[in-house]
Amino acid sequence: MSDKYDVVIIGSGPAGYVAAIRAAQLGLKAACIEKWLDSDGNSRLGGTCLNVGCIPSKALLDSSYKYYEAAAKLDVHGIKIKGAELDVPAMIARKKKIVDQFAGGIATLFKANGVTPLVGTGKVLAGHKVELTGHAGEVSIIDADHIIIASGSVPMEIPPAPIDNELILDSAGALELQEVPGRLGVIGAGVIGLELGSVWNRCGSEVVMLEALEEFLPMMDVLIAKESKKILTKQGLEIRMGARVTHAEIKKGKVEVSFSTADGEHTEVFDKLIVAVGRRPLSENLLAPDSGVTMDERGFIFVNDYCETEAPRIYAVGDVVRGPMLAHKGSEEGVMVAERIAGKHAQLNYDTIPSVIYTHPEIAAVGKTEQQLKAEGVAYKSGMFPFAASGRALAANDAEGMVKMLADAESDRILGCHIVGPSAADLVQQIVIAMEFGASAEDIGLTVFGHPTLSEAVHEAALAVGGHAIHVANRRKRK
Ligand code: FAD
Ligand code: AMP
Repeated sequence: MSDKYDVVIIGSGPAGYVAAIRAAQLGLKAACIEKWLDSDGNSRLGGTCLNVGCIPSKALLDSSYKYYEAAAKLDVHGIKIKGAELDVPAMIARKKKIVDQFAGGIATLFKANGVTPLVGTGKVLAGHKVELTGHAGEVSIIDADHIIIASGSVPMEIPPAPIDNELILDSAGALELQEVPGRLGVIGAGVIGLELGSVWNRCGSEVVMLEALEEFLPMMDVLIAKESKKILTKQGLEIRMGARVTHAEIKKGKVEVSFSTADGEHTEVFDKLIVAVGRRPLSENLLAPDSGVTMDERGFIFVNDYCETEAPRIYAVGDVVRGPMLAHKGSEEGVMVAERIAGKHAQLNYDTIPSVIYTHPEIAAVGKTEQQLKAEGVAYKSGMFPFAASGRALAANDAEGMVKMLADAESDRILGCHIVGPSAADLVQQIVIAMEFGASAEDIGLTVFGHPTLSEAVHEAALAVGGHAIHVANRRKRK
């Protein structure tokens, strides 16, 4: 039997399911293939983001921060909590409940929009056909006018530290711990490593992060990265830069990790080890040799700015293609592709994709960093405002960090905004919108911000670009 669809999407992560819903909204007959099974063997929508990524990690970050506050941060408010206790299985069970609820939500949205979910593994064949292999091995062939590949990514593994998800965990395993490890090692002080390290540090683990690079968070603005490292170190995360892990071995129920630094070889023993060295695209066994779709040597599928592959009417979106591995980047690509298939002239502004690290305080960015502008020879001006001068941040006893804004020296157009501070993820979004509208720093300066809000720090940073911040001394004096 052969079914025919206007569009078949492979993968139901944030790139795939959003593409499917948008396509159906536009009147296209859409099907979405997903192979993920939950722990009970039931089909699961939502991909990495929902099941083992964005949502469960944020659930644990929120729970662990509440515990940390209750146990150690409220005295200053005059609130004394004696004997705050953490029930780790309850914390993990709450996370699972949220994930289950959202997975059901996507299934409901598929039903409401008329998307057909198909269970099994998809493979792109030549001639606009998709092979669907069910979990019992049954094979069917689907005809598709258009195909969207949204197969996502999986954790990268390194030979020195093979994952067993008992003692050596990947990011998914680190979301399932049932007790707080006494001493926790984390390989990789990138986005995921910092978030997972923070969760367990707040719960009481002694966390040691081993990072091969010398520079902390090189993709972030250098000032913000430096400040973030200072703050996170103060919280108890031991971050060792220039530490390359060369070997990990299980010995007497613990993990012995060898790593090299400029000083020589070292060894540390941990109760658990998290490997958070990045993610790789999931593209093996996905394409028949004559599908016409091509990929690079790392497995990223080649696409142009419109996410078109080299084969006509076959597209790829999300983590399986170039660009930052972020849920919202994939979702917007999914929307763009669905709209283009439906005949709309959609495009995506890759220059205004925000990125966030959900530590506390959060670290958030959009646009160019100061080091990028320097390297590109762009003349720029900058403004900075520390949360220590924000009434609202002080009132909340959450006044670490700063907002930094960068604007073109001539036109004053905003080129980037970088924040480490309370609610940085939401604050940076204001500048994402401003940049999308081509705003200048002066435009933000002329906008009225409510008082007292954390947003005032964004306002003041914009004023500082012009040299006339009110609540902080200006480095550059302007009229
Ligand atoms: P995925 O979410 O990986 O989904 C791909 C889906 O395709 C999977 O369900 C897979 O089973 C399915 N699939 C693959 N191949 C086939 C096939 N052949 N047939 C059928 N199905 C197939 N991003 C953020 O933006 N914000 C965050 O806060 C954030 N936190 C994260 C925290 C962690 C711990 C991790 C691991 C990631 C986090 N990310 C975050 C990254 C985010 O999860 C990914 O960028 C996002 O999930 C990518 O979406 P995607 O749809 O491209 O792929
Ligand atoms: P991210 O890509 O943001 O998830 O970060 C992953 C981090 O892991 C990068 O900063 C890498 O430098 C780091 N990394 C990769 N391999 C090793 C290793 N063997 N030892 C220590 N750090 C590593």
